[in-house]
Amino acid sequence: MYFDTHAHYDDEAFDEDRNELLPRLNVGGVELIIDPGCDVKSSRAAIALAEKYPFVYAAVGVHPENITDYSMDELAEIRALAEHPKCAAIGEIGLDYYWDDSHMAEQKAVFRAQLDMAQELCKPVIIHDREAHGDCMEIVRQYPGLRGVFHCYSGSTEMAKELLKMGWYLGFDGPVTYKNARKSIEVLELCPLERILIETDSPYLSPVPMRGKRNDSGNLRYIAEKIAEVKSLSPEEIARISMENGKRLFGI
Ligand SMILES: [Zn+2]
Repeated sequence: MYFDTHAHYDDEAFDEDRNELLPRLNVGGVELIIDPGCDVKSSRAAIALAEKYPFVYAAVGVHPENITDYSMDELAEIRALAEHPKCAAIGEIGLDYYWDDSHMAEQKAVFRAQLDMAQELCKPVIIHDREAHGDCMEIVRQYPGLRGVFHCYSGSTEMAKELLKMGWYLGFDGPVTYKNARKSIEVLELCPLERILIETDSPYLSPVPMRGKRNDSGNLRYIAEKIAEVKSLSPEEIARISMENGKRLFGI
């Protein structure tokens, strides 16, 4: 009944038990998963997982934290991987000025090149925006035909309204369960149900009460419970609606 639209099962945090964990999660109610790549190697690994498990889909892309002098050259490989029938999106791509604000120009160039690629291939995108809201907005405004999700949305309510008007989806993760989540809750309140995606970002961002432990898609229920509380619905309804939303956006 759950669709985790953002979980990094290719991450080394899952090296020891990935092949036991994934089938167990699936039996436990996680019907679909998207594993977004963060560079060529992890995009390739995400595609391999998608080939192995019918309920796993991949996204491929170069994450802003992984930008190097060679990133532009790697995009040919990303493009080839994007042609795979189980590649659902281009991602995880975007801008991150929290970890590294010294390569802003390179980050923007690689982000733009991957948005061009998504447009050309008619794929949705999965966007990582950390402390780079203004520049992300300035860039996505230049792609009015493109659709996708702002993963683990952390911008303002004004920015959310603009994105929703442009047809974007917002991703909600473990942080909505944290005590200091006031801003995310305000965004949730204004976000129409049909634009909400629930994501774990596993192995990161474990929700309360699993905070501090390795995250996995089994914890999606804590995020659904929190959203259900805000929207005055049942967690099952949130699971069902976000499943439909994910399938619609990613064409699954
Ligand atoms: Zn991620």
